[in-house]
Amino acid sequence: MKETWTISRAANYLSVSEPGLRKIMLRGELTASAGPRGKEVAADDVRDLHTRRQMAVIGRHPNAVAFAQETHDVLWPEQPAAHLFVNADGSPDAATMARAMAQKRGKDALVYVDPDAVTLFGRSSVTAAALPREKGCRACWASLDASMYDRPGPGRGMAYRKLFGQQPCERDFAEWAVAERLERAAEKAVQAQLGRIEMSRKAQAEAAGKIWRPAVPGESAAQLVTRHQAAMRTAQQRNNPTLAEWHARQIQRVKEQ
Ligand SMILES: [Zn+2]
Repeated sequence: MKETWTISRAANYLSVSEPGLRKIMLRGELTASAGPRGKEVAADDVRDLHTRRQMAVIGRHPNAVAFAQETHDVLWPEQPAAHLFVNADGSPDAATMARAMAQKRGKDALVYVDPDAVTLFGRSSVTAAALPREKGCRACWASLDASMYDRPGPGRGMAYRKLFGQQPCERDFAEWAVAERLERAAEKAVQAQLGRIEMSRKAQAEAAGKIWRPAVPGESAAQLVTRHQAAMRTAQQRNNPTLAEWHARQIQRVKEQ
């Protein structure tokens, strides 16, 4: 059965308010249907829409790292040192200093954040970026908030480091190491599977007396011959006449085609 979400869960996932989600639905970007818990939307549709909204943001802000830094700076504008606020005669310029110090910061500056940043980085991460440094690791706080609201949490990498204005904590490092190990293991499994598929295709082709071509898209017959010629020379240099002969046969077959 298709997984469905309530409107409020979908809004959380997309980091928009419920009225915001209603506008999205009015524009026809997401369709709701009646379910046992009221209006519902297909979880896959929400995930697809989220990806599309993020792609649109990346179109507008191609440099995610710079955009993250900008967002951080909106939340935490630099406060110039007091000694810079002086009048021409050297007396303190209290009025200008008061204005600079009154700039909204942290939570109070969230209203100035570009909504695109919320779409791209997620509400949990943007809210966490607005937390005072004393509250601890912003990435950990964002992960916790994201799991509470069932929405995407912080990603790894430079953009999130710039957004949070912090280096990852020890716990993040430990979690990243696990995630990276899993990614590498998955990659290796895919490579091994591709290798097995190639070997079986090669065996099938040879059994049928055909030339086996590895999956190199766009390789012409000439390029294939060049590759076999190079491999044949290497085989000759390594004193492997059987392999050299095999490559010579492949070249002959390509030429006869
Ligand atoms: Zn952390």
